[in-house]
Amino acid sequence: MAVYIVLLGPPGAGKGTQAEKISSVYHLTHVSTGDLFRENIRENTELGKKAREYTDNGLLVPDEVTIAMVEDRLKKEDCKNGALLDGFPRTIKQAEVLDEMLKNSFDAKVNIVPCIEVNQEDLIQRISGRRMCKNGHVFHIVTKPSKVEGICDECGEPLYQRADDNSETVKTRLNAYNETTAKLVGYYGAKGVLKTIDGNKSISEVSDAILAAIDEAI
Ligand code: AMP
Repeated sequence: MAVYIVLLGPPGAGKGTQAEKISSVYHLTHVSTGDLFRENIRENTELGKKAREYTDNGLLVPDEVTIAMVEDRLKKEDCKNGALLDGFPRTIKQAEVLDEMLKNSFDAKVNIVPCIEVNQEDLIQRISGRRMCKNGHVFHIVTKPSKVEGICDECGEPLYQRADDNSETVKTRLNAYNETTAKLVGYYGAKGVLKTIDGNKSISEVSDAILAAIDEAI
């Protein structure tokens, strides 16, 4: 039976960092909608052109664009055992469509939703020190520095700062989370699959808590 995990939490909570660990432990493909948008923007595809005006301003890309992209991605061979979803769903509509899609196309459901909670004041600091490579590996100049400055430990690609990781755009992104995405806590809570994780702890303590929650659920 395929396993679907949804990682929930505000920007800067550590979803990308934790996703790298979880996907390797469970051999689950990491599907990050943010990474998919960034890849399309880099390659200047039609999808990238549509997404850019939203991502650059910290706004949510419209549901129909996002949902079609995720649907395509989940149908690929490397998702046949399920997926670790990072950054999707972000709206109730996306969550409802995901449930239908999993049921109808894969006879599956969302098994567990670890929700990483971090103090709001710390999120901005975390985001301002974040660096990443084009393959989505995430570092932080203080809490998770790369071994060689500016170079990804995993793949040797240069590290860069995301265009939307500036203080103005971050405020809009946090707003989008608080106003829209946070409603998913209630949505998944009602389904009994939500597990709140204290994201203020160290990276490895947070990983341990998430892995324990997944083990219990699957
Ligand atoms: P992330 O890397 O998850 O922080 O996402 C970066 C940006 O991509 C967000 O600020 C949105 O503009 C866009 N994005 C990512 N995932 C979604 C989604 N599920 N729905 C709408 N927009 C998204």
